[in-house]
Amino acid sequence: MSHSAAVSQASAAFSVSSGNERSLKRSIFKQNNSISFNSKSWASSLALSQRTTSLREAKRCTNTTICMSVQQTSSSKVAVTPLELEDPKEPPLNLYKPKSSYTAKIVSVERAVGPNAPGETCHIVIDHDGNLPYWEGQSYGVIPPGENPKKPGAPHNVRLYSIASTRYGDFFDGKTASLCVRRAVYYDPETGKEDPSKNGVCSNFLCDSKPGDKIQITGPSGKVMLLPENDPNATHIMIATGTGVAPYRGYLRRMFMENVPNKFTGLAWLFLGVANTDSLLYDDEFTKYLKDHPENFRFDKALSREGEKNKRGGKMYVQDKIEEYSDEIFKLLDNGAHIYFCGLKGMMPGIQDTLKRVAEERGESWELKLTQLRKNKQWHVEVY
Ligand code: FAD
Repeated sequence: MSHSAAVSQASAAFSVSSGNERSLKRSIFKQNNSISFNSKSWASSLALSQRTTSLREAKRCTNTTICMSVQQTSSSKVAVTPLELEDPKEPPLNLYKPKSSYTAKIVSVERAVGPNAPGETCHIVIDHDGNLPYWEGQSYGVIPPGENPKKPGAPHNVRLYSIASTRYGDFFDGKTASLCVRRAVYYDPETGKEDPSKNGVCSNFLCDSKPGDKIQITGPSGKVMLLPENDPNATHIMIATGTGVAPYRGYLRRMFMENVPNKFTGLAWLFLGVANTDSLLYDDEFTKYLKDHPENFRFDKALSREGEKNKRGGKMYVQDKIEEYSDEIFKLLDNGAHIYFCGLKGMMPGIQDTLKRVAEERGESWELKLTQLRKNKQWHVEVY
């Protein structure tokens, strides 16, 4: 579906809607979903942001029967429900376990990257009907169907996936969770050819699933990436490679898109490393935050295969972007900023080396600084 098609569908959706806000939201999203289910084009992620824009526009148009424009002219936030999801003092943990998993349903699977991205990443919306609440930064476990090849007769092991939505989900009603999943494909190192028998079990199950398919979920799990909210004015430096951006999408929707009681007034700074422009994830949402909240959001991208060079003339990786802004980052950390790392394990050594080098250049001991950051609970790492 092209961007303009998404726009016109969105207009059509709310030009005929009436009734209360919740049913209005549902009708908009249902209409958009039914369109995007069948077209795994990369315009889908645009459609996703268009839905948000549409919703905001629709909120202004509830009393009219025809509302043609879907342009975002106000930075008003989207209402979310049920607000009781704000009440618990502790995050939900392991409500469902591998032996008693929850059967959820796939709502949609959309390719989240452009045609020139190496590999495929999908944005997957899962309907849990409000039964599997979670907080931003947590993960779900997924048990793919079939038999564990290492334990005949037993189910597959659980695979963890960071949740890429807020607790209210992409439809703002607390009934869905979204995942950002990269399809694990195996290439024979000698022939360079794909060997489907060795492709990743769970990521391929998820990326191939269809709306309505059942899915076994465990969790939610994880506390290390929870967004500390005691200080609304805090600084959050978020570093991701690829699908590592998932928890940050949740944070940023909570900070900038949703009308939640905890109003964010601090600074969120996202560093995202991917191969090229087509591999950028949720770029339209992030770009919009930059436009609407320039005082509170910064966004730096490292595109390793797109020609931009680091200061040593090598490829631009996320650690090179960090180095570029290291003075500011160190000052922010000294002032209590939280720093988060999420993505492939391989990202950490390069980043740690860079931070150590910068610390030494500043005459500081990185080991001492890291100990202090950990002690102060400013240091959050989830790599896989
Ligand atoms: P598996 O079947 O487990 O295979 C693993 C790898 O081995 C694959 O690359 C596969 O191609 C290869 N392989 C299989 N058979 C062979 C063989 N015979 N010889 C050689 N190689 C072989 N992933 C995401 O995409 N998004 C996320 O947000 C995300 N969040 C995570 C959060 C946490 C906390 C953790 C721990 C992991 C997260 N992951 C995430 C990774 C995810 O859990 C899975 O590990 C990943 O999807 C691969 O699982 P799979 O079942 O597809 O692959």
